[in-house]
Amino acid sequence: MTHAVIVGAGPVGMVTAMLLAADGYRVSVLDRDPAESRDASASVRGHWRRPGVGQFGHTHVLLPAGLAHLKRELPNAVARLTELGGRRHNMISGAWNVGAVGDREPADDRFDTIAARRPVLEAALFAEVSRTPGVSVRCGIRVTGLLTDDGRTPGTPHVTGVLTDDGEQIEADLVIDASGRNSRLLALLHDVGATPIERRAQVGFRYYTRYFRSDVLPTLPTWPLTHHESVSVIALPGDNDTWSVTLVTSGRDQDLRLLSSPDAWHRAVALFPNVAHLAEGEPISGVNAMGGTESKFRRFVVDGKPIVTGLFAVGDAWATTNPQFGKGMTVGFAHAALLRDTLRVTGSDDPIDLALQFNAVSEASLTPVWEETALWDSHRFAEIDAEMRGEAYVTDDPAWHLDVAVNAIHLLDPEILRAHADVGCMLAGVDEAVLKTGLAERILSLATGAPRYAEPGPTRRELLAATTG
Ligand SMILES: Cc1cc2nc3c(=O)[nH]c(=O)nc-3n(C[C@H](O)[C@H](O)[C@H](O)COP(=O)(O)OP(=O)(O)OC[C@H]3O[C@@H](n4cnc5c(N)ncnc54)[C@H](O)[C@@H]3O)c2cc1C
Repeated sequence: MTHAVIVGAGPVGMVTAMLLAADGYRVSVLDRDPAESRDASASVRGHWRRPGVGQFGHTHVLLPAGLAHLKRELPNAVARLTELGGRRHNMISGAWNVGAVGDREPADDRFDTIAARRPVLEAALFAEVSRTPGVSVRCGIRVTGLLTDDGRTPGTPHVTGVLTDDGEQIEADLVIDASGRNSRLLALLHDVGATPIERRAQVGFRYYTRYFRSDVLPTLPTWPLTHHESVSVIALPGDNDTWSVTLVTSGRDQDLRLLSSPDAWHRAVALFPNVAHLAEGEPISGVNAMGGTESKFRRFVVDGKPIVTGLFAVGDAWATTNPQFGKGMTVGFAHAALLRDTLRVTGSDDPIDLALQFNAVSEASLTPVWEETALWDSHRFAEIDAEMRGEAYVTDDPAWHLDVAVNAIHLLDPEILRAHADVGCMLAGVDEAVLKTGLAERILSLATGAPRYAEPGPTRRELLAATTG
């Protein structure tokens, strides 16, 4: 039986484990965080301790495409999430009957997801993976090195297992790195003579999240993410009568770092009419702040040749995108399925072929998502930089103008709203939803003269005044 070792029991590591076990693999999942951090009832009560994942206390949404994936592949995990209090939520429900959108349509079911805080989502996956035949999950174990066999693929290190912090050597036919955005993989590969390529953005966004609860869920905004002068705002429901509000700034914006103080955060949120009422519930967390979220992208095939075999990175260990779009888990689940599908076709007997095939399908399916998000990021950082200098941002990139336009006017036309939601929920790409349907011209024409931002909000000057009190 083929043995796969998965480094990391985050959402992507756990989904990868369950997919491979269903195909008959023996899977060992190793995670450095202790088992107590996965207790389901503690997660629901908000008692979270998960040092291995910096974003644990931040807003997470499983996009409808990610939920569809789980329903198809791992329906028991979805049932478990609902049992733990995950709440059915339609991503455009806040827009029904607003503006020119009209009533709910039957096909709007495709925008359904299950809202849950990240710890609760993880607890559901953990409960499922722990009872999956063929999978053993060991917590409190850190992978500190790679075992290699230099004879298997001459000239290219071939990974045959891992070394743990207590000195154990675990042999494997496949090693899968699912150890997240701060994976130590590059350093470990360096130690065995392999140098993957890493591209990383110079700056990332900074997140300030607070959770609330109330017996009645307040009205949600028409779309969870809205952009404003120098900040973006995310408001999302969670499980068990909870919700969160997050302010997103540029990592370069030192002045707005005051938002990590609850008083400053509340004064700031009060200036955004579409979410101000959401900060009036019972707070169930402090303001969780996180920076260091630069997008990263790692490649293990260089100039058409694998730099390592026997080892595959999935999820955030392979690439991270701007978290405000909530794509990370959905991309990671798709990546796990790509690995499983490649193994089905290629098998693991020819490690070079397997490395090349997995690289090829990852590049074809997922790299475009990364490129598109990275392009958006570079415009948004430039726009925020310009606002910080008191200037207007000017670019002639049509992709940015189309994105700004659709954000500004999506409530003016039901078809445009749904195309916008198809892209936002990862159910379709911009090409398919907007360009090929001929909607782009209508969007640009409706947006002529429309305000830059769809929702009212403070100017930067007003925001700075509020945060400093
Ligand atoms: C602020 C923020 C908000 C986000 N919001 C969303 C959202 O709304 N929707 C969404 O889909 N995504 C969101 N994301 C992205 C999402 O969190 C990631 O895509 C997701 O966590 C990736 O899962 P993963 O399993 O690849 O890695 P992780 O969740 O990072 O898990 C990695 C695991 O590896 C373990 N580990 C690390 N090193 C070792 C080692 N050496 N040995 C053993 N174990 C190790 C860690 O303990 C951890 O359990 C957000 C990210 C951020 C930063």
